[in-house]
Amino acid sequence: MGLAIGDALGFPFEGKAREELKHINLSCYHAGLFPPGTWSDDTSLTFITIESLRRCQGLNLADLAQSFLRWLKEGYLTPFGQAIGVGRATKEALLRIEKGVLPEKAGGTDERDNGNGSLMRILPVVLWYRREPELVMLEKVHLASSITHAHPRAKIACGLYALLCRGLIETEFDKALGYALDFGRKFYQKAPFSAELRYFEPLFDGSLFTWPQEKISTSGYVVHTLLAACWILKRTKSYHEAVTLAVRLGGDTDTTAAVVGGAAGLCYGYESLPANLLNELVKGEMLKNIAWVFALEAM
Ligand SMILES: [Mg+2]
Repeated sequence: MGLAIGDALGFPFEGKAREELKHINLSCYHAGLFPPGTWSDDTSLTFITIESLRRCQGLNLADLAQSFLRWLKEGYLTPFGQAIGVGRATKEALLRIEKGVLPEKAGGTDERDNGNGSLMRILPVVLWYRREPELVMLEKVHLASSITHAHPRAKIACGLYALLCRGLIETEFDKALGYALDFGRKFYQKAPFSAELRYFEPLFDGSLFTWPQEKISTSGYVVHTLLAACWILKRTKSYHEAVTLAVRLGGDTDTTAAVVGGAAGLCYGYESLPANLLNELVKGEMLKNIAWVFALEAM
């Protein structure tokens, strides 16, 4: 639910410059004809993943890929019956699946395919496999990513976020991040990942946390999204402060706030979610029902 609120809060501002967002009242805005509380691809694909995990009692790539395709083609699990905010790499991969390409071979492997489209939807896989050894969880995370994003860099970003979120279920942010980076650095010290680790170096060496806001990028590039999310979570003290800062940084506001919001929800708990934003979510009762059943089963 933390992820869904972040997505909905950021959605009206997708693509806006940081300067424009400095002083406006975020909660009064809506995107074009869409009312406040409208959520986009981030929430749709996350909740579709929840449903697929429950239906198949684990990760089933064929089921998940077909469900994603239903979202793209039929508007399955969307606020108003149409897919909103479809990313390029995700669309291309799903159209390959429609033509019969196997889901594990469908995701882009080009360096330019490293958007944040799998990072935004990976959280349910983390929650479902949280009691399995890390190696098992990471293997599932990489597989789930590969349906649309199969480049090792996107997989590392999903894996580090997965380890962070796994840690956040048990402990506070600094300890969870330390655990994620320790485990991640060792785990990704092998082909095809080791050559990609340098893109995450500011996170590993801690220099990221000394960067001023001007140095934080919030494009749709998966490394930017992960680094921005960690930078935001490190310097904020509540769920609301975290997602608000994520939106105010501009750029890919809905996905940055969704990625931050998912982790911040684990950090601060369901009770920390602002009631007005929770109540404003389009089809909020449907989302809550899906989330609660999943929580009871997976947690
Ligand atoms: Mg979106």
